[in-house]
Amino acid sequence: MKIVFFNIPAHGHTNPTLGVVKELINNNHDVYYYSYEIMREKIESSGAYFIPCDKFDSQTKLSNEDKEKIAKDLVFSTNLIVDMTLRLDDEILKEMQELKPDVIIADSMAFWGKLIAKKLNIPFISSTTTFAFNKYSARVMKQEGPGLFQLIKSIPQINKSLNRLREKGYEVKSMLDIIANDENTSTIVYTSKYFQPYSETFNDNFAFVGPVLRESIEKIEKAGIPTVYISLGTVNNNNKDFYQKCIKALKDENLRVIMSVGEDIDFEKLGEIPNNFIVKKHVDQIAVLEITDVFVTHCGMNSVSEALYYGIPLVLFPQTTEQKGVANRVNELGAGKFLEKIKNSEDIKNTILEVLNDKSIGENAKKISDSFKTCGNLSKIVKFIENKVKGN
Ligand code: UDP
Repeated sequence: MKIVFFNIPAHGHTNPTLGVVKELINNNHDVYYYSYEIMREKIESSGAYFIPCDKFDSQTKLSNEDKEKIAKDLVFSTNLIVDMTLRLDDEILKEMQELKPDVIIADSMAFWGKLIAKKLNIPFISSTTTFAFNKYSARVMKQEGPGLFQLIKSIPQINKSLNRLREKGYEVKSMLDIIANDENTSTIVYTSKYFQPYSETFNDNFAFVGPVLRESIEKIEKAGIPTVYISLGTVNNNNKDFYQKCIKALKDENLRVIMSVGEDIDFEKLGEIPNNFIVKKHVDQIAVLEITDVFVTHCGMNSVSEALYYGIPLVLFPQTTEQKGVANRVNELGAGKFLEKIKNSEDIKNTILEVLNDKSIGENAKKISDSFKTCGNLSKIVKFIENKVKGN
């Protein structure tokens, strides 16, 4: 089979697909992966043919201010999606017609993959690295008041923007058509039914396959004292104030602290790094999680899934609405505790120690871990994809 992947330039959306790519290739399928230069190495090492999309995308040229707008300003993000799709339409559509893929698999945010599949009538599978979404699970991932208001206000402008797609032969009724899938769309969901909110409301078109973790590269030794891992992920991680408070909170504790602060933080501005801290711009997170006792996380779906796979109790510090949804679910299942206040470093220390010492939180994390380890595996995903092509 020839399988085409489309993805956005985000580690969190790419990482879970790489194990799938490897497994497909092991099963003698050809995989063509349309993504971005910053992901080239990862994708090529999974064995796929890598095709860069950077030149089609205005996102790579966005200022930091614009990047922040993506999640908040719907008109702005609709325009980005439409621009991207139309640029791809000019060049990649021809390529697709020649390649004749058996199936297109697109990340739930690489909307252009779905639009192209629909236009060319190619079987389509959505790959969602967050929770599966319907009107029930939306309650957990809920849009807050201002977000909803913004959405309603912006509809006329969105329509104008969508007209540009319609003129090029894309059948889109509304923005919802692009950003949401109906229950007939085959969807790979990288979580378990136990962790998915309202999982009973999803039919068999949704394959809950559990997180697909990459392998660790390094091997980190246990310290003899508990290890705390702190990370705000790879996107909204430029939070010097928070990192400094964490340093202050834990510098005198009998704990080893590993802190991943992201590419944009200037180490010198963090102040003195205490002896019990290891601070890096990026860590081998799987290797770190293998020896972590408590994880202070921004609640990106991948970080949370990876940590819960190892049964690690969580300190929940979400930054966006989506992350809040993930945090709510962890809290609901008792596997973590919110970091409610971060006014001073005492609040941070107390929450970390509470999570570390409360056995029931660890036990609840272990339950989720068990559900991940038993809910599915890579060969199940390959079957799901093959069945889709066969029309089953
Ligand atoms: N990650 C990593 N090293 C780091 C920080 C993050 O390998 O120092 C990985 C992490 O394992 C996860 C991804 O980057 O797979 C982050 O995805 P997530 O959904 O948690 O958050 P995002 O970065 O998209 O906000």
